[in-house]
This record gives sequence, C-alpha cells and structure tokens, in this order.
Amino acid sequence: MAGEKLRFDTLKVRGGYDPKENNFSVSVPIYQSAAFDLGNTERASKLFSFSEFGFIYTRVGNPTVAVLERRVAELDDAAGAVALGSGMAALTYTLFNLAEGGGRILTTPRLYGGTFDSFKKIYPKFGIEIDYVEDPDDPASFENVIKDDTKAIFVETISNPNGAIADIEVLSEIAHNHNIPLVVDNTFATPYLLNPFKFGADIIVYSATKALNGHGNVIAGLVLESGKFNWANGKFPQFTEPQYTLRDLNGNERSILDVFPQFPFTARIRNNYLAYFGAALGPFDAYLALIGLETLSERIRKQVSSTEKLIQYLEGKKEVAWIKYPLAKGSPYKLLAEKYLPKGAGSVFTFGFNGTDDQLNKFLDSLKIFSFHANVGDARSLIINSPKTTHGELTKEEQNRAGITPDTIRISVGLEDPDDLIEDLEQAFNKAFD
Ligand SMILES: *Cc1c(COP(=O)(O)O)cnc(C)c1O
Repeated sequence: MAGEKLRFDTLKVRGGYDPKENNFSVSVPIYQSAAFDLGNTERASKLFSFSEFGFIYTRVGNPTVAVLERRVAELDDAAGAVALGSGMAALTYTLFNLAEGGGRILTTPRLYGGTFDSFKKIYPKFGIEIDYVEDPDDPASFENVIKDDTKAIFVETISNPNGAIADIEVLSEIAHNHNIPLVVDNTFATPYLLNPFKFGADIIVYSATKALNGHGNVIAGLVLESGKFNWANGKFPQFTEPQYTLRDLNGNERSILDVFPQFPFTARIRNNYLAYFGAALGPFDAYLALIGLETLSERIRKQVSSTEKLIQYLEGKKEVAWIKYPLAKGSPYKLLAEKYLPKGAGSVFTFGFNGTDDQLNKFLDSLKIFSFHANVGDARSLIINSPKTTHGELTKEEQNRAGITPDTIRISVGLEDPDDLIEDLEQAFNKAFD
C-alpha cells in the first residue's frame, strides 16, 4: 500500500491488495489456476533466474495466496511470509528449515498435541532432536539446555490448552545471546492480540485454521519472519552456501541470502520445502482465509469479552475445581498478560471438572449449544475433554508434565450470546449432578 503506515483494522481488510492490478475487483479474486504463462523466452529466463518476480506454478506461489501472505505480513509488520497448506506444515517446514541435517530444537512440554507428537515420532527420524526445559516458567532453565547444535528456541506464545504465557522478550534475549532465533507459535493470540516481533521473536508460525480465519472452514498455515535475524552468523550454512538453482543470468551460483536478503527464511521455505515437500495452500482456501481475516478484531474482541463472562460464571461454581486462563483468579500469568496481551488473553481456557468420569461424560453429552470438536478459535463455541482427545496422544506422564490432568475440560468461546452459553453450561451441570 502507498507507503504510509496504516492501522491494523485498515490493513486487515485492504492490506497487500491493489484492485487496480486486478481489473478493479473489490473482493480479492480467486486465481484458480495451476500454472501461469511465462510470456516469452526472455521473461522465462528472468523469472527462473529471480531477476524478475512473477508467478509460475501455484505450488510455489499464487496471486490469491500472495494477498494472504502480504496481508498477514503487514498485520505483524513482517519482512516476509509464506502461506502453507496447514499449521502443521508451517511448523514442520520452519523447524526443518532451521535444524535440517542434524540439529536440536529447544522447547517446552506445553504444546499443541500434534506438535508434541510430531516432535516425538517424526523429527528424530529426520535427524532433528528435541530438548525440553525443566521449568518453562523459568527463562534461566532454557539457558541451561542450549547446546552447540541447538538451532532455535520454540514456544507457543499462549500455550494450548492451558493458556501459559511465554516471556518472549526474555527468551529472545537468551536465544540471541546464543546466535539462534526465537520461533513462536502465535496461533492462540493472533496478530490482533500480540505481535511477537515487537518483543524480539524472529519467526512466527500460525495455524490459520483457528482464530485467524475463525470460521472453521479451512485448513491453512503461515510462517512470518521479522527480517532482523543474522543468518550469516555461522550457525546456519544453509543460508549462505551457493546453490546451482539460485544462479544468476550469467550462471553464477548464489546463496539464498544473496538472492533474498530481506526475507531469506521464508524464501528458503518456499524454494525448498514448499517446492519439494509441497504442502501448498489452494487459492480458494486462501480466499476463505482472507474473508475470515476481515473480521479478526471484531471477532476476537467479542470472544475475549464473552470468555471473561464465562470465567466469572465458572469461578463461582462448586462443580469447577480450578480454572486456567491468564486472567482467572490466582493465575500466575497476570503480569505477563498485562505486558504481552493488554487487549485480552484470548478465548480458550481450561477448567477442572469436580466430579466422576461418568458425571463428566454426562455433562459433555448434555450440552446443547457447545460443539464437541477440536477446532479452537471458531465462531461457534466448543468444548472438549482434552486428555482423551486433543492431547490423547500424550502418555499419562507427558500429560502430567504438560499440566493436563484427567479432569481437564477445554472451552473455546465463539460468537454466540454469552448468556445462552452460560445457560447451556448451567443446565448441563444440573443434569450431570442430578
Ligand atoms: C491447530 C494448531 C496447530 C496445527 O495447525 P493445523 O492448521 O491444524 O495443521 C499448531 N499449533 C497450534 C497452537 C494449534 O492450535
């Protein structure tokens, strides 16, 4: 957009798109095409030597997908972005891009269930080892576990499902002292509640399937880079080694940093992982994600306010053993929430069900409005018993370390009237304890 810095709510409906370049179409067109004509042989050689940028093949780039990439990049003030077919693809490509060929990732046990499971089952088979900190709330304990071949610290800014907040400013300092980047999964916060780049994070990963899109009708992911990390510091030779496929018009081999100095990280994901592993986002799915994004602030504001109402209701109930939400009574994350999440701590929380397994099942089965599924951030509220579903891949011991006790119930608050949601919970509690 024409140079001047526009505000968040303007960017979320207009960012990264110029109608003049698209037949003055007001809505972003769906470029449902696998390939793009190269024009003539001269243009083709320019495109393939990166001396002119243009679309070639939708697996590595598409105009509709590119609007989504640019728009989310503008919302987080990123130097570059790449959209992918899922949040899992975004996360895997990011961490492989850092630690491929033998490296370690340092993280915490407080992770999305799929992430945790992939770390256990898949990463070691690709030569990538995962280290877990002893105490995720003590930044010093990260310092102790960094090894020579540690390639990144990775945390969720607001953790799934219990809403632990990572002290990303402190963690980014620790990472940078060791010449490694801080990678964050910002899915729960979305760019509306938190911009991790402001606090020193280097790479942001999103599952756009969740609140970013917010309508539960698409699977999508994004990777963003701040553009500030020094990839030439010696720890990441994959960014500085000359490559035949990056040769210039005269045939001189160049590195990814030579060709894409502003956004080498996402350019390397695009040119290697997206090109060869191929988890491309389709143009229609990108379009749906763009439509969802247009109402991001409005949705999150209402969802945060309804969440606070539900928490107030649950805090008074004897059927509720505890509540984990950064702003709930007694939460250890109040100070971090004030610092990182002044607009609210999101719309997902957990509580302990103070009853037997049978009562818990009866409670869940008696709900009439809440959906029973895994997709948080949806416009429709949902409820789920995490230890048996979303985090069911974890062993009892791993669940313990992740703070997921057998009585845990997770709620993601949608856009319904909060009083209807409270009445639904109340009637289900009554049935369960009848
Ligand atoms: C859902 C989720 C993912 C995975 O995203 P998909 O789009 O489902 O592949 C990663 N991280 C977090 C925090 C999530 O909630």
